[in-house]
Amino acid sequence: MGVPDRFQALVDDRSASQAPDAWLDLAEAATAEDAAEALDHLLATDRAVQYLGVLVGGEKAGIASRAHLWHLARAFDDAAGRELPGEPDYELVAWDCPVCSARVWRVHTDPRHPPGCPNGCGPLRPEVV
Ligand SMILES: [Zn+2]
Repeated sequence: MGVPDRFQALVDDRSASQAPDAWLDLAEAATAEDAAEALDHLLATDRAVQYLGVLVGGEKAGIASRAHLWHLARAFDDAAGRELPGEPDYELVAWDCPVCSARVWRVHTDPRHPPGCPNGCGPLRPEVV
């Protein structure tokens, strides 16, 4: 299973060797617009993130730098004629790994099916707020 073509642009090859500060887990059914909105929201919400790991349906797609994603989201917004900053019509939920502290952001979360740690530790726990 490869990464869907529409998400390939999210990945920044120059950042491939970086350790991600957090992950974004996109649903396999997500559109490129869904992804751009989630990136907008995530970069604004978690300002400590410099390198973001991108997962599609839990599969690692690659790593992207904040600068790359910011540029990409802006380009997408320009193409779509969107007003910025847009108000997201969904909530990003943070999941944390109790073992290695990896953080994974997800748009749609079914608590019966917690995402797994991208580092292979096991199921993640929803962020405690
Ligand atoms: Zn872990």
